[in-house]
Amino acid sequence: MSSGTTHIKFRCGQCEMIEDQCECDKFCVLCQSQLDIRICKDGLMYCVPCRTACDYKTSDGDPRGF
Ligand SMILES: [Zn+2]
Ligand SMILES: [Zn+2]
Repeated sequence: MSSGTTHIKFRCGQCEMIEDQCECDKFCVLCQSQLDIRICKDGLMYCVPCRTACDYKTSDGDPRGF
């Protein structure tokens, strides 16, 4: 169903702002890490190891968010 790689910004599930504008405290919902936290498609925040483990991607399409 996916139509290629459109760069849609994911929104924060708490404040509903796009990731760039979100000012919520950023920490991983799984392990409470605060390193390299990015919002994923479900509106929750994950660190790199958890994104990789769960196969979640950032809005950039890479689990590491580079
Ligand atoms: Zn937010
Ligand atoms: Zn984590």
